[in-house]
Amino acid sequence: MIRNLKESINIKDLSPKEIEKFITDNGLEPFRARQIGKWIYGKGVPSFDEMTDLSKDLREALKGAFSLGDSIELSEEQMSKDGTKKYLFRLSDGNQIESVLIPDKGRHTLCISSQVGCSLGCTFCLTGTVGRIRNLTPSEILDQYLLVNRINGGTVTNIVFMGMGEPLDNLDNLVRVLKTFTDPNYLALSPRRLTVSTSGLVPKMKELGDQISVNLAVSLNAPTDALRNEIMPINKRYPIKELIKASVKFPVPTRKTLMFEYVLLKGVNDSDKDAYDLGKLLSGINCKVNLIPFNESQPLPYRSPSRERVLGFQEILMSFGINVRIRKSRGRDILGACGQLAAEYPVRNTKKSRRANEAAV
Ligand code: SAH
Ligand code: SF4
Repeated sequence: MIRNLKESINIKDLSPKEIEKFITDNGLEPFRARQIGKWIYGKGVPSFDEMTDLSKDLREALKGAFSLGDSIELSEEQMSKDGTKKYLFRLSDGNQIESVLIPDKGRHTLCISSQVGCSLGCTFCLTGTVGRIRNLTPSEILDQYLLVNRINGGTVTNIVFMGMGEPLDNLDNLVRVLKTFTDPNYLALSPRRLTVSTSGLVPKMKELGDQISVNLAVSLNAPTDALRNEIMPINKRYPIKELIKASVKFPVPTRKTLMFEYVLLKGVNDSDKDAYDLGKLLSGINCKVNLIPFNESQPLPYRSPSRERVLGFQEILMSFGINVRIRKSRGRDILGACGQLAAEYPVRNTKKSRRANEAAV
């Protein structure tokens, strides 16, 4: 059973540093925090009582201050024809989120959510039409990985923040989670296996980069401000020039490359001219481009371009010396592909939902 959020803080909501602070505030040696990390994440014990190398007093103090159960509950699992699995999770307040596991040769990538819904209202994204409901807590983000990894026999190798929500709009919790993922005494995952995807919250990109080095994927989706303003309203606050500047400064891990994502929308941003404009914009920048043919989902008014158009767009970009890949669409039949996650929330007319969001701020 999952505990109510108001009941007590889940210890997985704390970063390794914060657990260490709790320990030293209680007059104990900092290495006790590392022992706790190993019990929670290495051994996955379900209660503090099982942390047998801690004193009884410390176990009691932990029990008094924190809970340690699962913060989310699996409510549905769907399997796509291509092997992609979509997991629907119920949160303690009744909200729902989704995670998607994409098995591929030698790597199993888990796409996780950072928010319930999203406030940024990109016109082509189903999550955007839900609006922002709330940020996920660190334990709710971590548990998506812990549960899916457990269900799949520990086979998850990579994690991408490309599920529901804008991770940088939940920066403090994102950083806590990334620290827990990468700390050698906690989940010990290589930062090279973690990718944060952002629509371009420029000041938050710098704040993230100042605190941790992970892979960065920037959802560019248009080569000019005029077009980007139209499909990604956030561009009015942080235009392309500023976004590119912040992107190239971001400290990705060594031998890893900054990635730009570009969702191809038929007749909107997929012309030869758009490809040339994009090529000029990115030429000379050390980056990769991932082209994502639009995943169609009702009620969004866009269509996916033909295969020939996608290849034509790629060819033009490649003529600028840019490394371009076309993202295979996975899990479309179970609405598990990029931008198709809405966790069964009623999706509304995009304009209306945006107005509702603005009114709610
Ligand atoms: N908020 C973050 C991460 C979640 S969206 C961001 O915007 O980057 C993850 C990716 O899905 C983004 O690159 C986004 O542009 C893309 N996306 C959204 N809707 C899509 C759709 N319907 N088809 C294909 N990709 C989509
Ligand atoms: Fe939010 Fe990303 Fe969807 Fe835009 S594309 S609405 S930022 S989740």
